[in-house]
Amino acid sequence: MNQPRAKVVIIGGGPGGYEAALVAAQLGADVTVVERDGLGGACVLTDCVPSKTLIATSGLMAALEGSAGLGIRLDAASARAAVDAPRLYARVRALAGAQSADVASRLAAEGIEVLAGTGRLTGPRTVAVGDREISADILLIAAGAQPRILPGAVPDGERILTCRQLYDLDELPGELIVVGSGVTGAEFASAYQALGSQVTLVSSRDRVLPQEDADAAVVVEEVFRRRGMTVLGRSRATGVTRTAGGVAVLLADGRTVRGSHCLLTVGMVPGTSGLGLERAGIALDGRGFVPVDRVSRTSAPGVYAAGDCTGVMMLASVAAMQGRIAMWHALGEAVGPLRLSHVAATIFTEPEIATVGITDQAAAGQADVLVVKLPLATNARAKMQGFRDGFIKLFARRGSGIVLGGVVVAPRASELILGVSLAVEQLLTVDQIAHTFAVYPSLSGSLTEAARRLMRPAEDA
Ligand SMILES: Cc1cc2nc3c(=O)[nH]c(=O)nc-3n(C[C@H](O)[C@H](O)[C@H](O)COP(=O)(O)OP(=O)(O)OC[C@H]3O[C@@H](n4cnc5c(N)ncnc54)[C@H](O)[C@@H]3O)c2cc1C
Repeated sequence: MNQPRAKVVIIGGGPGGYEAALVAAQLGADVTVVERDGLGGACVLTDCVPSKTLIATSGLMAALEGSAGLGIRLDAASARAAVDAPRLYARVRALAGAQSADVASRLAAEGIEVLAGTGRLTGPRTVAVGDREISADILLIAAGAQPRILPGAVPDGERILTCRQLYDLDELPGELIVVGSGVTGAEFASAYQALGSQVTLVSSRDRVLPQEDADAAVVVEEVFRRRGMTVLGRSRATGVTRTAGGVAVLLADGRTVRGSHCLLTVGMVPGTSGLGLERAGIALDGRGFVPVDRVSRTSAPGVYAAGDCTGVMMLASVAAMQGRIAMWHALGEAVGPLRLSHVAATIFTEPEIATVGITDQAAAGQADVLVVKLPLATNARAKMQGFRDGFIKLFARRGSGIVLGGVVVAPRASELILGVSLAVEQLLTVDQIAHTFAVYPSLSGSLTEAARRLMRPAEDA
């Protein structure tokens, strides 16, 4: 006799939710996804996909800016390329919409039911959407997160903006003040400076990207300043107000910074309020995130959580992996726990910063960790391309030579990091990388070169 199909209900159709739905359907479950705003979630509709689409254009603008050095002369009438903002934003919105439609078709093809609406728990494993109530054997919470709002800086969608409100503007901000110099702030500051806005980046810390590898952050900050951005370090914003022609950002030390628009990038808060999680007996942590273990289980039996609402690591790839792991575990497949030390991540500034595994300078000071850093400027391909900012840094275990991690600061570092990522995942040694062919000339040649340097006796490395 056939086993009854497990009933899986997922709240949230972002990468945490829809990737889980696909795995659950593949394993034969009867799956319903409840989504309020659109499939693909904030990742596809407002965050990751739109921002990287915008950055595709800003990257080209940055390349054009440096084109004179490569022997390209723009004729006098158009000495500088200009951005067609309405067209750019229309492209961003259309691409996000198309990506969301792709996710919807994929789920439909797998027979996954999608309910448009807001879901909330009405019991340990029952979810209400409008006047419909569904019971689940397995429940996954993948409700994502929203931009944090400062009490004295309330976004109005016109001049004071969160990162989700940029694409409804009909012009490029003339003078953009970006508050917050974490990943999102740095990415948008970099992009808008290249697109042609005059950008001021307000950072409460000593340097931009305070959580990242210090060498990498220094390179990016130098490039920011060289391209004409104003970077205000140790400057905490306490409020933002509208003025006649724009905005005024008030700093804790009494200064005021004026501009046409202000973009607030001061962190994200989990989208867990109003979900009724207490009805399943799930206690949230002090910041409102859903605590989970490494196979995405919450404290309530049969209830899993994935993605930004767990606060584990706010990346689409991590959300998707948490969601898949949850379903493999819940539906009885063999599954390994989430390994955060193997997550490859990129900050899409110009140049990009990509990291995997050990990236901490402090680790380099440990007796059993070797590190080498090769400046991009010594790479033949980089010289040909006119790239002078960046480096490849590789970490390996002394003795065994096993690759522990790396940092790549370069144009398209997001693509170059895969070699290091493979090495970390597969426990490859520097000897194995050094014996691998890289194309000449190529930026990835610096990776094999770095590995060769680490083959030397430890004292020389
Ligand atoms: C500007 C920006 C750029 C980013 N760029 C990158 C990047 O380049 N690479 C990367 O890996 N990550 C990036 N991220 C992070 C990435 O977007 C998130 O990690 C990812 O979206 C998390 O996926 P999720 O499924 O947890 O949540 P989301 O994508 O936020 O999806 C959650 C969904 O749940 C829905 N929902 C919430 N509550 C309910 C409810 N009660 N009922 C029904 N539906 C509900 C929401 O409507 C939403 O659609 C970026 C983030 C930002 C802000």
